[in-house]
Amino acid sequence: MTLMVPSTTPAATTLISPGRQALDTALFQLDQAADRLHLDDGLRAMLATPRRSLTVSVPVRREDGRMDVVQGFRVQHNTTRGPAKGGIRFHPSTDIHEVTALAMWMTWKCALVGIPYGGAKGGVSVDPGSLTTRELERVTRRYVNEILPIIGPDKDIPAPDVGTDEQTMAWIMDTYSVNAGYSVPGAVTGKPAALGGSLGRTGATARGVLIAALKAMPGSPEGRTVAVQGFGKVGAPAARHLADAGCRVVAVSDATGAVIDRSGLDVEDLRTWVKETGGVYGYRHADALSHEDLLELDVDVLVPAALEGAITAQNAPRIRAGLIVEGANGPTTPEADRILADAGTTVVPDILANAGGVIVSYLEWVQNLQACSWSAGEVDAKLRELMESAFDTVAQTSAERGISLRQAAHVIGVGRVAEAHRMRGLHP
Ligand code: NAD
Repeated sequence: MTLMVPSTTPAATTLISPGRQALDTALFQLDQAADRLHLDDGLRAMLATPRRSLTVSVPVRREDGRMDVVQGFRVQHNTTRGPAKGGIRFHPSTDIHEVTALAMWMTWKCALVGIPYGGAKGGVSVDPGSLTTRELERVTRRYVNEILPIIGPDKDIPAPDVGTDEQTMAWIMDTYSVNAGYSVPGAVTGKPAALGGSLGRTGATARGVLIAALKAMPGSPEGRTVAVQGFGKVGAPAARHLADAGCRVVAVSDATGAVIDRSGLDVEDLRTWVKETGGVYGYRHADALSHEDLLELDVDVLVPAALEGAITAQNAPRIRAGLIVEGANGPTTPEADRILADAGTTVVPDILANAGGVIVSYLEWVQNLQACSWSAGEVDAKLRELMESAFDTVAQTSAERGISLRQAAHVIGVGRVAEAHRMRGLHP
């Protein structure tokens, strides 16, 4: 049987799309885990291919009356352990390969942290910054209508990702509910609290990043220097949490630029600047820095929290942070991983480090299904328990098998999904 699983690391210089590169990375990681777990070819094929992929055309009426058509995707990689779960990304370079990779990582992530979901992801290849709010609402509602047959609280539950937020989730909840004929809060997570969103969901991914960073940090966080790539829904609150924990956040970047202040940035003041101006570029209390230089700064901790493929074979040899905590999905290529491992850099992998978001999404869904709401303290305690327990399991497997934290996380995640497949058997 021919599988699309590459047996060697994909060449970084090949001219392939970032999405295809992300999928190659995901397949390479699966292949490695499958080898360690001695999975047979049939199971490998099941795990290497999504159960369902939907590509849709989304017509959007622009304010000037023109009609544009953009592509949308929803991929359900696996539903063996429960309904599919995963964010929706609005980004111009999103394609079916990227969405498939992200869906696959969601499958392993949910299994790793022990929540009863499979993995999914959605995307629309559109730049949300180029649309008015009304255009964005029309794109969202039309995209949801197109993928409506395959989503729902028992089937596949979307959440925010790059370029989408609470407001997007509110429109999705409304579109789904209007079609159902009654309110269905459990159809989507990351909603505003007024619609049944969970307390603590907004900053949950960042809280998880902090928990993972503190677990991985040797000794006290006091005075440790941090650089954060990506100052969005994950990176900005993660910077804030790390600063609150005693770290010195010296540099951050976003799509508009990068800024540095060696004495420590005032993260809250920078967030206010970003709200007012749209990006970190031009922030008056810091110096400008290039995107590349931020990643290579001499800091204790680097938090990539933007997009895939940020740390590659090209820049990995120059990365000086001793600890990398992956807020983003897939920020490190397999070649870079090897270079970092040889250099003794600790990498807390994405499927562990950024799992706080899907953990609190799960808690939101449980509250919606039970028609109840928990306090912020209860949500935070559950998040901490699941994150810490997953971290400990990964660290233990890594030590026992003499493999990296990423390899350990994939062995656990893939292993649990494979086990579920074996137990269920195959329906004719
Ligand atoms: P977001 O859209 O809120 O923020 C993304 C940030 O990255 C923005 O500040 C953007 O300007 C910046 N950025 C884009 N290109 C950049 C570049 N080349 N250099 C530096 N910065 C750049 O998205 P988000 O929700 O914060 O997601 C960020 C990452 O975290 C993604 O990989 C996403 O899949 C992952 N993630 C998000 C969640 C969540 O709950 N939102 C959960 C788990 C994982």
